[in-house]
Amino acid sequence: SKLRVGLLFGGRSGEHEVSINSAKAIAKALSSETNATKYQLIPIYIRKDGCWQAPEIAQAVLESGKPLSTESDDSVGLWQFPPSVNEVDVWFPILHGPNGEDGTLQGLLTLMQVPYVGSGVLGSAVGMDKIAMKTAFKQAGLPQVPYMTLTRAQIWSNSCVFPKLGDEIEQTLGYPCFVKPANLGSSVGIAKARTRSELETALDAAASYDRRIIVEAGVSAREVECAVLGNDNPKASIVGEITFNSDFYDYETKYTDGRAQLLIPAPIPPQIAAQIQEMSLSAFAAVDAAGLARVDFFYVEKTGEVLINEINTLPGFTAFSMYPQLWEASGIQFPQLVDQLIQLALERCQ
Ligand code: ATP
Ligand code: MG
Ligand code: MG
Ligand code: MG
Repeated sequence: SKLRVGLLFGGRSGEHEVSINSAKAIAKALSSETNATKYQLIPIYIRKDGCWQAPEIAQAVLESGKPLSTESDDSVGLWQFPPSVNEVDVWFPILHGPNGEDGTLQGLLTLMQVPYVGSGVLGSAVGMDKIAMKTAFKQAGLPQVPYMTLTRAQIWSNSCVFPKLGDEIEQTLGYPCFVKPANLGSSVGIAKARTRSELETALDAAASYDRRIIVEAGVSAREVECAVLGNDNPKASIVGEITFNSDFYDYETKYTDGRAQLLIPAPIPPQIAAQIQEMSLSAFAAVDAAGLARVDFFYVEKTGEVLINEINTLPGFTAFSMYPQLWEASGIQFPQLVDQLIQLALERCQ
């Protein structure tokens, strides 16, 4: 009999819409000729308010490609799962950002005792939190940009802490610097600061997204990414590059058609590509990732330096996303990739 795949998408994050598009592509791949004989799709949609929706509703969301309004309500409550949840043999969570990519959902699926695609609780949480991630990378000897970490409480304190912090950031990192909430994705809440007043605005904005904030020295570099696939013996894909005309790879550039171009393979020297692949595998292991991850780098062409920027344990998975495209260029077609990820989930439970 067919293996029933619970495709879990949507979710309570700023990347809800991206998740719907990723799920559409995976649903299509599951209905491909070879996969359809092995797998049966059970789509489950998590609304923006966190409410889980049954397959009929989830299917309608996949077809329309649009989020479901949280008002129209014939739904069960937050923690009343649709009955079809009990029919799932293996989960394929494809939620990006908080409450999906950060270990919270992985904890729930672990408790359910049903295998799932991707990293477990630790790998997801460490991969998502940029402060924990950088600590793990540092421990693994991976080169990174200089950075400082702050808390919301420090930023919002009305004492004299804040002016001192501003001075310290300027002295340690200088301008431009990048201010980021620790636990987000798709560049949400990230700002580039070139002056003290931009820094203050950016810190205040980032603090509204997260309790933990990171400030990094800005580098002028090419942006290259590598896909990783596997569990204990993972493989690295060929390396891709992103080019764009905006100031940095912000949300608008990421999701406006035609604003960013993917170059696959990246036009970089082969020894640099090999170094990036090796660093990707080391980053994957450093955070205890499993199944899949996309690792993002800065390549400083002038000096030949490669700095790791971050890891994404549930990267964008639309037909146009970097992760599946890197594997396609490395010889694994989209439907095959989905099949391999499900098999890797099962392997981890043996
Ligand atoms: P993703 O959607 O890949 O999860 P994210 O929200 O986790 O992204 P980052 O990858 O950390 O965010 O940063 C987003 C973008 O901001 C980068 O792709 C790059 O263009 C720019 N950027 C971030 N940090 C720096 C830096 N230290 N120096 C220069 N540019 C940076
Ligand atoms: Mg990220
Ligand atoms: Mg991300
Ligand atoms: Mg990134």
